[in-house]
Amino acid sequence: MADFTGMKIGILAVQGDFAAHAAMLQSLGVETVEVRTVADLNGCDGIVLPGGESTTQLQFLQEEGLFAAIRRFSGEGGAVFGTCAGAILLATKVKSPEQDSLGLMEMIVLRNGYGRQLASDVFFEPTQLKKEPLEMVFIRGPIIESVGPDVRVLAEHAGKPTLVQQDNVLAATFHPELTADATVHEHFLRMAAARSTKALEAR
Ligand code: GLN
Repeated sequence: MADFTGMKIGILAVQGDFAAHAAMLQSLGVETVEVRTVADLNGCDGIVLPGGESTTQLQFLQEEGLFAAIRRFSGEGGAVFGTCAGAILLATKVKSPEQDSLGLMEMIVLRNGYGRQLASDVFFEPTQLKKEPLEMVFIRGPIIESVGPDVRVLAEHAGKPTLVQQDNVLAATFHPELTADATVHEHFLRMAAARSTKALEAR
């Protein structure tokens, strides 16, 4: 396993399942910090936007100045990982209903896209990150309707992207933090580590 010790990852901790992300990242040897203010982002190599309720999270980001701060953080090369509600926050366009978003991942998302019956379910699907199928836990997740030309689709379910990457930004419509499989988090940490190396070289 890669060595991620010494890295620091912020986790937006307003509501939702931020604790599950912290547990998984700590099991990989990473220091985590709960992000509730702009200052909490200082010294972080990456930030996680967890699942939960995107409208509530969005309002908090806007009130606390974190909306602009996370856009700045990403613009400066910081890695950003959004799961479910977090993926909704990252999109360039949100539908059903429409709401503002960070616009860091060129994609159109449809909230609660899998409908009521299929709202919460588990599927195993192929991914570009490892040979074996990846466990995907969906909880009232969004559907990614379309992605821009610079977005890499790393996994799909039912013909729709579920794990996508654009440069230093990663989004999943499912919840890897609720499984025992750290593949997606390890991928995110490699993205964040690439940025740390660049920062060190620039010093
Ligand atoms: N349905 C939620 C939303 O639209 C997302 C659900 C989740 O994060 N598990 O914000």
